[in-house]
Amino acid sequence: MESGRGETGPGWQRPGALLLDLSGVLYDGSTVIAGAREAVERAQDSALQVRFVTNTSQKTRASLLAQLRAMDFAVQESQLFTAVDAARQWLSQRDLRPYCLVHRAIASEFADFDQHDPNAVFIADAAEGFTYHTLNRAFQLCMRGAPLLGIGTNRYFKADDQLLMDAGAFIRAVEFAADVEATIIGKPDRAFFQQALASAGVAPQQAVMVGDDVHGDVEGALNAGMRACLVRSGKYRKGDENRVEGDFRLVDSVVEAVQWVLAQAD
Ligand SMILES: [Mg+2]
Repeated sequence: MESGRGETGPGWQRPGALLLDLSGVLYDGSTVIAGAREAVERAQDSALQVRFVTNTSQKTRASLLAQLRAMDFAVQESQLFTAVDAARQWLSQRDLRPYCLVHRAIASEFADFDQHDPNAVFIADAAEGFTYHTLNRAFQLCMRGAPLLGIGTNRYFKADDQLLMDAGAFIRAVEFAADVEATIIGKPDRAFFQQALASAGVAPQQAVMVGDDVHGDVEGALNAGMRACLVRSGKYRKGDENRVEGDFRLVDSVVEAVQWVLAQAD
């Protein structure tokens, strides 16, 4: 079943790019979503530019690519856009010394940065790394004027059969305590989507984002001027489609989303 929304809109053009979220769209924990592999293949074989955009921050870029390939997804390295890469770029462009409150699995991605006497704070999904001690350190640095960089505003994600708290609430906690506003580097930030679109050489009006997060994926894409499909897989909860305003498509899974985008592109 699909909703009838999302077919026309002001200034929309025939799709030239398809942006796919990873977790909850292509896989759920360690399980590939039924038909997702073939759907990605169909999109890759079409005239569409395919990009993969993720806020996932518990894996390095290399291990994320390895996981996708182990699951048999046809993904080129240049098609993968991660919020962790965007954070590295942001910090290095500003020559900052970040305190990285990140998962230990991705600490190596920040090994090139001078992290002594930090003058910036970066918070990603640190999971067990979130303790009073680490959050308080982030708070103290922000109180001293360090800019706060956050991976995303995701509330939770789904891994296998569990919902798990994401980084959003921890970033909000430090914002609240230090009375500062974080710069959000991944979805739903418009600049993050724009990087992926620029690499595909298409305007937002020619792109469709497919995701399971109604705020990060769908609302973010709409705010960036794209079309969006919300899938009923991954973290999707009944009624999520009513949590945001705007015109988007509700589909069962990435299989139906790809079918719809290909039909629009013809
Ligand atoms: Mg997702």
